[in-house]
Amino acid sequence: MSAQLILQPGKERSLLRRHPWIFAGSVERLVGRARPGDTVEVVAGKQVLAKAAWSPASQIRARVWSFDADEIIDNAFFKRRVAEAVARRGVLPRLTFEPGLRLIHAESDGLPGVIADKYGDTVVVQLTSAGAEKWREAIADALMRATGCARIYERSDSDVRGLEGLEPRAGWLRGEAPTGEIVIEEHGVKMAIDIVGGHKTGFYLDQRDNRKLLGELSQGRRVLNCFCYTGGFSLQALAGSAAAVLSIDSSQPALDRAVANLALNPQLDATRAEWRCANVFDELRRLKAAGETFDLIILDPPKFAPSASYAERAARAYKDINLLGCKLLAPGGLLMTYSCSGGIGLELFQKIVAGAALDAGRDARIVQRLQGAPDHPVALAFPEGEYLKGLLLHVF
Ligand code: SAH
Repeated sequence: MSAQLILQPGKERSLLRRHPWIFAGSVERLVGRARPGDTVEVVAGKQVLAKAAWSPASQIRARVWSFDADEIIDNAFFKRRVAEAVARRGVLPRLTFEPGLRLIHAESDGLPGVIADKYGDTVVVQLTSAGAEKWREAIADALMRATGCARIYERSDSDVRGLEGLEPRAGWLRGEAPTGEIVIEEHGVKMAIDIVGGHKTGFYLDQRDNRKLLGELSQGRRVLNCFCYTGGFSLQALAGSAAAVLSIDSSQPALDRAVANLALNPQLDATRAEWRCANVFDELRRLKAAGETFDLIILDPPKFAPSASYAERAARAYKDINLLGCKLLAPGGLLMTYSCSGGIGLELFQKIVAGAALDAGRDARIVQRLQGAPDHPVALAFPEGEYLKGLLLHVF
């Protein structure tokens, strides 16, 4: 019999709204024995409200697998959930043709702690919770069956595993390493994906649609791409006939990849591209001091605020780069600015950017609000899934 997690009185409210996290402060006691990752019944009063994965090391003490008290959490459960997540991508028919696609977006796909991205016929999974860790083999089998892919690589080396008491782990789960590089095509541009050494699962699929938009906006413009990683936005700017593209990142390996990606695309004019290894905060100041201006600036920084407690310090960092970005734009220029911090909501982000434009003495309006690509769905019951937010601003 599975153990029972008894909730404090009144703490069932978020579960009734189908939010999948049970925090330490909501737990009255555990009845019975459970090891990390084991399935427990979540009980309020006398009623079983959910089945969840027990994670004693984490502040999120349990993550819900199912709100159906009768559902059995076994290999067949993961086969169903994974197949549903993969099938859900077909809701937007165009997604089914994407060689680079997020197949499982964790809580938003009913699989807390499970990320799966597909690059051609290779799937990369990231398991970040005790529950996901326990069901690794079932998840891998289900992915092989649902996708027909040739191989699965595991990149469970994210920091958040530490919070669940899990060690980093990486390696081939199914199949063998492909002989050549993994290359996908995104809006007509080839990109090599370093699934072993790159960030996250190798690539930022969430920005796919925004990279397309950027390409459409680039013609004839002098583009500055800050935090360029492996050149996703930069190459789309070149494909969109930008006059020049200066790209900045503090990671030399990322820039090396970007240069190699450009070489994979002989149709692009490489003489218009310049790559600079620098800290964006310093480099923007240097460019300003040198009197440089740009017509289109992209600011896609890493997560400055992993949670709400970092929000204040993160807000200063966002303000700083957006202020400098506004100052560097020629009149009539475009600023494409993002935050991928879960701890900074859209409303706050917009306030920060508004403050930055004001302090820069610039008049700006929102042309378009931007978000993650639709293979990163947001469950309405789990607003935390909506981490990526952006603004396209027209600046005078
Ligand atoms: N826009 C990219 C993803 C950006 S990820 C894409 O579409 O693929 C964020 C990048 O910021 C990483 O490549 C990281 O190396 C870089 N970075 C982090 N801090 C930085 C800093 N202070 N200055 C410059 N680059 C930084």
